[in-house]
Amino acid sequence: MHIGCPTEIKPQEFRVGLTPNAAREAVGQGHKVTMQAGAGLGAGFTDDDYRAAGAAIADSAEEIFASAEMIVKVKEPQAVERRMLREGQILFTYLHLAPDPEQTEDLVNSGATCIAYETVTDRNGGLPLLAPMSEVAGRLAPQMGAWTLQKANGGRGVLMGGVPGVNPANVVVIGGGVVGTHAAKIAAGMGARVTVLDKSLPRMRYLDDVFGDQFRTLYATAGATADAVTQADMVIGAVLVPGAAAPKLVTREQLSTMKPGAAIVDVAIDQGGCFETSKPTTHENPIYEVDGIMHYCVANMPGAVARTSTLALGNATMPFVLAIAGKGWKQACLDDPHLAEGLNVHQGRITNLAVGEGLGREA
Ligand code: NAD
Repeated sequence: MHIGCPTEIKPQEFRVGLTPNAAREAVGQGHKVTMQAGAGLGAGFTDDDYRAAGAAIADSAEEIFASAEMIVKVKEPQAVERRMLREGQILFTYLHLAPDPEQTEDLVNSGATCIAYETVTDRNGGLPLLAPMSEVAGRLAPQMGAWTLQKANGGRGVLMGGVPGVNPANVVVIGGGVVGTHAAKIAAGMGARVTVLDKSLPRMRYLDDVFGDQFRTLYATAGATADAVTQADMVIGAVLVPGAAAPKLVTREQLSTMKPGAAIVDVAIDQGGCFETSKPTTHENPIYEVDGIMHYCVANMPGAVARTSTLALGNATMPFVLAIAGKGWKQACLDDPHLAEGLNVHQGRITNLAVGEGLGREA
C-alpha cells in the first residue's frame, strides 16, 4: 500500500504522524511511504532521516493526498486538507468528530474511509491510542506545576522536593486514572508528598498495590477533596467521566481556602476542566491568576514535548498502520474488532454509534 504523511498544519502542532522507524517498518513490509518535505522537523526528524528509512519525500501535501492510498496524520484534517481527500482513500488520525459537525459533513462527503485514533479500543476497555497522550500529559503536569510554583511565575515559591530540614511540596492529584497515576509517580519522584483522590475503589486498590507508600490514596468525597485542596501547594486535575464534561470539583469560593500562590494544573481542561475557575490556555501564555491561585490550563499539553509525544503516539499507532496497510482496512477491521471501533466514517456514512449519537445523526 502507498502510505502518505503530510506536515501537520493546525496551529502549534509540531507532532508528525509517522516516525522514521515506523516508515522503515512499513517499507520493510513492502509498502511505499511518502512524507511531505519537512513533516518531521517539529519533532526533530529531518527529511534525510526519512530517506534513510526508505521513504520518498514529496514537496507538497497536494502530491501526497493525490497519490497515497492511506493518509496517516496526528490532528483532524483541516478544511483545506478535507478538500483533498478522495473517495476510497483511508484516513487514519485523531478526528474527535462528536463536537465537530462541519468536519463530519466534509468527511462524509469525501467518500473516504476515516478511522479515528480516539475510538480504537483494547481488550481491557481502554483507549490505546489516547493513553500515550494521557501518559505524556500526566508526566508533564508536575513539571509544569513546579514551574508555576516558582516565585517569578506568581507561585508560592515552594520547591517540589524541599531540602533536608524543610518540608517538600504537598501535591494533590484528583483522579487516579492514566493521567493521575503518571502525574503522581513523577511528583513523588521529584520528592513531593503526594495524595491521589479517586472515586473508584478498585482503582485505589490497584494504585496502593503497585505504588505502595510512594503516594497516599484517598476516597474522593466532596469533603475529602475540599480538605486536601486546602492543604495543597499544587493540585493536579485529572478526572474523566466518559462521554461527559469534567465535573467541577473545586469552586471559586474554595480558592480562598487554599494557600496563597498555590498552583492548579487542570489537565482535564480539554473536557472543560474540573475547577470552576479554569479556562483553556496556550503554551505561549500558559498561566493566569485567580484570587491569588496560579492556574495552568493548557489544552494540548503533549504539544510541549512534540518529540516524546510523536514517539509515544507512533509506538501505539504503528501496529495498526501496518495491519491496515498489509490487509486493507476491511480485513484488518474484521480481524480486530478493536480497530473496527475506530471506523468513524465510510463511503458517505457515519459508522460509529457513539459518534453518531454525539452528533445527533444516524450511524
Ligand atoms: P482515565 O479515565 O484514565 O482516569 C480518570 C479517572 O478519574 C478515573 O480513575 C475515575 O475514576 C476518576 N474520576 C472520575 N470522576 C471523579 C471524581 N468526581 N473525583 C475523583 N476522581 C474521579 O482518564 P485519563 O486518561 O487519565 O484522562 C484524564 C483527563 O485528562 C481527561 O479529561 C483527558 O481528556 C485529559 N487529558 C488532557 C490532556 C491535555 O493536554 N490537557 C492530555 C491528555 C488527557
